Amino acid sequence: MADTKRDYYEVLGVEKNATDDAIKKAYRTLAKKYHPDMNPGDKEAEAKFKEVNEAYAVLSDADKRAKYDQYGHAAFDPSAGGGSGFGGFGGFGGEGFDFGDIFSSFFGGGGTSRSRTTMAVDGDDILARVTITFEEAAFGCKKEVSFSRVEACAECGATGAAKGTKPETCPACHGTGRVTVQQQTMLGYMQTQRPCQNCRGTGKIVKTPCKNCNGKGYIKINKKLDVTIPAGIDSNQRIVLRGQGSAGRNGGQNGDLVIEVRVKEHEFFTREGNNIYCDVPVTFAQATLGAEISIPTLDGKTDKFKIPEGTCTGTSFTLRGKGIADINTKRRGDEIVTVIIDTPQNLSQKQKELLEAFAASLGESNNKKTAGFFKKLFKK
Ligand SMILES: [Zn+2]
Ligand SMILES: [Zn+2]
Repeated sequence: MADTKRDYYEVLGVEKNATDDAIKKAYRTLAKKYHPDMNPGDKEAEAKFKEVNEAYAVLSDADKRAKYDQYGHAAFDPSAGGGSGFGGFGGFGGEGFDFGDIFSSFFGGGGTSRSRTTMAVDGDDILARVTITFEEAAFGCKKEVSFSRVEACAECGATGAAKGTKPETCPACHGTGRVTVQQQTMLGYMQTQRPCQNCRGTGKIVKTPCKNCNGKGYIKINKKLDVTIPAGIDSNQRIVLRGQGSAGRNGGQNGDLVIEVRVKEHEFFTREGNNIYCDVPVTFAQATLGAEISIPTLDGKTDKFKIPEGTCTGTSFTLRGKGIADINTKRRGDEIVTVIIDTPQNLSQKQKELLEAFAASLGESNNKKTAGFFKKLFKK
């Protein structure tokens, strides 16, 4: 039995040297995930929930954790070799671990009251995606975002009971939503609290279910929301609207609406941080003689820009403050223009002759790079 048990650290997915906070956090996440209230009828989740609680019961207690680190599961299993040697901990029986209480201290009203009824459950976060243009990302925009979230049923006020009726107190748990169970477990004889099966932990029984939500009290609704997307946002960044996700239950918090933004490609610009990059083709003659060229700008217009005589292909020019405004500081990035020489193609015979004559006229001082390169190449 004992050797089939998983390592408690592994169960919680934390390192052996994890801090108490890390353990608590891991436990909280897992306990929420596998809680029977969220997984009604799921035996596997129930088993995981027990396992997680068991691991946390030990690892959250400095003394028990130390024993576990030293002796492993044997520290808590009297049937394993020498287990009873570890003092009061071997038996475990009289202590009556109450996992329900450990759990309620996280999710209930602070764990002070045992008569507390149902458990607060936070609503789910919802992920929605929105696609915007490059310019919309640069200057900000308003977008309608569609998503669906769970809301309290307006028809029955989240009670699940049909109009004119009221939910009744569950006779099995007397409205507490929990039942106390005594059981023999691997940890010994224990008294645990479980959500009541009869009412699924709600403490209430609905005799005539609300037609709108089929008695669930909550209903999935398609929503549309106008969302302000701030200037400077980039692809894959997220906007979080607190509390706009699915509704929390029994006093739990609403989830968040998380909007993931995708920015479409631009026909001229690429983006890196707040800088924008643009390749501008120029003719061989423009690059050689210098020219005033037109370059696109973010606002959809063009700017005149002078490239100097003798500009090489691949030369970049920085236009300060013509990039995207930072989402936080609002300071604008730069526009970086790279000049690419568009080598002439499909020359006529006449053009070829002219160019050959021109080429023949060129000396070393006209093409310094070429001359230097071949000098080095053929040096030896
Ligand atoms: Zn309803
Ligand atoms: Zn009940």
